Amino acid sequence: MASEIKFKPNAVGYAVITLVLALITVIAYRKRKQLKRLAMDTINFILEQTWDIVSDRRIGTLHPLIQAKAKEFIIRAERELGIKLRVTSALRTWSEQDGLYAQGRTKTGRVRRSGSEGGKIVTNAKGGQSLHNFGLAIDVVEIKEGKALWSNPNWSKIAKLGKSIGFAWGGDFKSIKDKPHFEMRFGRSLAQLQNLYVSGDRQGEYVNLA
Ligand SMILES: [Zn+2]
Repeated sequence: MASEIKFKPNAVGYAVITLVLALITVIAYRKRKQLKRLAMDTINFILEQTWDIVSDRRIGTLHPLIQAKAKEFIIRAERELGIKLRVTSALRTWSEQDGLYAQGRTKTGRVRRSGSEGGKIVTNAKGGQSLHNFGLAIDVVEIKEGKALWSNPNWSKIAKLGKSIGFAWGGDFKSIKDKPHFEMRFGRSLAQLQNLYVSGDRQGEYVNLA
């Protein structure tokens, strides 16, 4: 005779179930409160100013979705690490990038012979090949006693903070390491971002990512 298994908790069982449910409720409540606070922090950061008016102005050129994150990065670096970061580059429009690419090259894209006008090559990226062209990247550097520390022993500390805020770090790039560079691509590939831009799915320089 097969005996049916029925779940009939005794008094202790009921107590355990009640306790577990109460625990879940408390955890869920605290988690929600924490998330709400995080969202408020992000909103607060956009209203704050960093230590540096130059950085604030450059952050203002970024894609609206990352402006608060960039502010948070600079403000928290000073507050939590005692590091004054300056944003050295933010949005570079496609046409600006194409202009930079043309520097030191002929119109056909060939490298100019040295001594000819046009100066040195400053970039290997054409418009749309850099996340800067979408306002989705910043370059930062620590400023100490009025000097920019490009070779900085603190890069890993800075990177850790940037990554905790959600940025991908150029120092982790497989091809060319770019330590001052931090970007957010919202799960999109470069090709996808380029498609959005070229198809006009954007507001000005900022592609729609909603
Ligand atoms: Zn960069």
